[in-house]
Amino acid sequence: MNYYFVFQNKSYLKEKQGGYLWAPKRSKNGNRVSHWESMKDVKQGDLIIHSYMKKIVAISIAITDVFAAIQPEELRKEKLWEDEGWRVDTRYIEINNPIITSDHSTKILELQPSHNAPFNSIGRGNTGYLFSANKELARYLLKQTESIQQDEVSKEDVRKVREEVGLLELDEVEVLDDNDLVDAIENIEIEKSKVTPYFSEPKEKLPLKASGQGSFTYPRNLKVAINALKRAEFKCEFDNRHKSFIRKRDGNPYTEPHHLIPLSFHNNFPYSLDIEQNIVSLCSHCHNLLHYGKDFEVVLKKLYDDRKDLLKEAGIVITFEQLLSCYC
Ligand SMILES: [Zn+2]
Ligand SMILES: [Zn+2]
Repeated sequence: MNYYFVFQNKSYLKEKQGGYLWAPKRSKNGNRVSHWESMKDVKQGDLIIHSYMKKIVAISIAITDVFAAIQPEELRKEKLWEDEGWRVDTRYIEINNPIITSDHSTKILELQPSHNAPFNSIGRGNTGYLFSANKELARYLLKQTESIQQDEVSKEDVRKVREEVGLLELDEVEVLDDNDLVDAIENIEIEKSKVTPYFSEPKEKLPLKASGQGSFTYPRNLKVAINALKRAEFKCEFDNRHKSFIRKRDGNPYTEPHHLIPLSFHNNFPYSLDIEQNIVSLCSHCHNLLHYGKDFEVVLKKLYDDRKDLLKEAGIVITFEQLLSCYC
């Protein structure tokens, strides 16, 4: 997906109302203009950041690819542009408390792309319509925007967009259930970075999180789970010859994280169970077998033998019989 930055000025309110971006194909004297030509690259699912009166007043996600379209009636009244144009329909999310771009000039200049950038070298918005943004700039601006929303609904609106386009940071995702953990990881582009060594001391427990209906759950950390998958080189730890497939997001082989000692048993242990030592990488077949299969014990024994010493280093002592009883 791509990221764009649009300056709408006069046309903002009308375009927002109509739920679109529109730009002419050529100027009055017949020339092509680069900040209009960039409309031709917009595709469904792209993220657009909308600037009006020097503030980021909306964000949107394109719901169509670009298409040729005559100037909408409400814009024609301005008598500014030729009729032949490009249009993208897009879902606007208005920002109640917008950030002022000049407050963020330094960061914007550091992050914006070098080609077709929205701001010039002194931090002023370039004259024109549609410019390029990138993942880093979008990540920064949306996070800033979310942080200054005063009401929960507006905050949630921005967060949903960040989540939808994969801009949440790993430690911002709260996961209270193992299936949600697998789903959350599916949306993350796992970067190929070095795996850090095991944190070889016991890890203090985190406070429990309310998970509705008066029950409390131990939160799962996404980063820890992803590290565990990386450490296993995205192979199945029951048998690394097991065939998997390639993940949509990042080209890594697909495996799922599984907490060897289920987190629901957190009360039985003095330290956190949400640690890499307790998370194994499994192919979908072995993961399901472990949860639902008649012969799960064979898989469990192998994983236990591999991990028991590492667990001990992290302050988690458990016999195989005790582990077995967690699965029965
Ligand atoms: Zn599992
Ligand atoms: Zn397997």
